[in-house]
Amino acid sequence: MTYQESAWDESPSLKSYTLTNFRELPQIEALAEEKKFEMEVVGNVLPFKANNYVVEQLIDWGKIPTDPMYVLTFPQKGMLKPEHYKLMESTLKNTSDKKQIAEVANQIRLQLNPHPAGQMELNVPALNDGTKLYGMQHKYKETCLFFPSQSQTCHAYCSFCFRWPQFVGMDEMKFAMREGQQLVEYVSEHQEITDILFTGGDPMIMKAKIFSKYIAALIEAKLPNLRTIRIGTKALSYWPYKFLTDSDSEEMLETLTKITDSGLHLAFMAHFNHLNELSTPAVRAAIKEIRKTGAQIRTQSPVLAHINDDAEMWAEMWRKQVQLGCIPYYMFVVRDTGAQHYFGVPLVRAYEIFIKAYSSVSGLARTVRGPSMSATPGKVQVVGTTELNGNKLLILRFLQGRNPDWAHKPFFAKYDKNAIWLDDLKPASGKRFFFEEELDQIKAAKTD
Ligand SMILES: *Cc1c(COP(=O)(O)O)cnc(C)c1O
Ligand code: SF4
Repeated sequence: MTYQESAWDESPSLKSYTLTNFRELPQIEALAEEKKFEMEVVGNVLPFKANNYVVEQLIDWGKIPTDPMYVLTFPQKGMLKPEHYKLMESTLKNTSDKKQIAEVANQIRLQLNPHPAGQMELNVPALNDGTKLYGMQHKYKETCLFFPSQSQTCHAYCSFCFRWPQFVGMDEMKFAMREGQQLVEYVSEHQEITDILFTGGDPMIMKAKIFSKYIAALIEAKLPNLRTIRIGTKALSYWPYKFLTDSDSEEMLETLTKITDSGLHLAFMAHFNHLNELSTPAVRAAIKEIRKTGAQIRTQSPVLAHINDDAEMWAEMWRKQVQLGCIPYYMFVVRDTGAQHYFGVPLVRAYEIFIKAYSSVSGLARTVRGPSMSATPGKVQVVGTTELNGNKLLILRFLQGRNPDWAHKPFFAKYDKNAIWLDDLKPASGKRFFFEEELDQIKAAKTD
């Protein structure tokens, strides 16, 4: 079926599958009990969630267990380190006491770096009157992140994602905030902010009625410094019906239109991890609807082992995105949290994938930047490799820095083909990276 011929004509209602009911799926029922138990062992530590669209239209059940959408959605044995796997396995075999299982799960989770890159300590902003805003993060000058309390969940729970602690009731890590008013206040106190990024969880899980309240507060405030509202979401990949046939889809599209009518730019930051997520008639129809609101869709994804560590797939995904009117934006490196050891791709390999894909697409898809690590000092891109006086080096630069002066500054690390995160790299100078001393000072100032 070609794009032109494909028609989208269904209007399903959302049915979610998690640890408690995934065995009801006929496709899961058909698996060996051993496999199902493996999923239970992992799923008790790392949350997961699927839905009828993902199960019926994205996963190719003829290709499991290696189908990328299957690996992305359902827990895989390798996502836990062997010692953690064994611990949960023996716990499940010895008890059915929910409290005891949860205790073991939390004990394991705490060893998985549940709040990387100083998520909690370093980025919590405050109003001038001292009120701490736990529903916000303000790391880079121009852009503040807003976590509406109603969007602390996702259509899928990706275990490579730093948000996974929010889904397992680790309460102190919930960035929740009820008041859109506080957001308005903060942005007006900070004239340097031009962008508000709605994130979560997934803000497109919110009912349109609730989302529109936040938007109305922002539009009515007529904040002169505000230029752009961004929405970071996976809804296009995991539930395109949010913009097609859900009971609030029209209201959602109207709310998006209100943003662009008010003179603000609406940047719809869509997470697409795989070409297959762009393949259904429903996602294509949803992209069209969102673009009709005047929004610009930009796309991003981490590069992930078992899912998309394949240059040709990336190239075709970017081409397809451009064809559908989306702008490729970021390729990320997977964070140092959760199942990084399973999904992690070494920086040098990520760079090779990027450059191979980048060099085989037209200029219109070369808006993409990466591979980039969202690390404590900032977003750091691997720009390339080189050789100086016989020493192999990695060239890096800041796409965003905790200090804005760091942006675009190139720096060098010793070549290391196994390094998967900034912390693994050694400065080429043999001393410290240029930003480290200042970063220490910033950290010390924030924790005083
Ligand atoms: C990526 C990111 C942003 C947005 O950065 P852009 O480069 O402008 O897309 C803002 N805040 C945080 C904490 C981020 O990680
Ligand atoms: S925020 Fe995105 S990457 Fe993280 S769990 Fe939700 S859908 Fe997955």
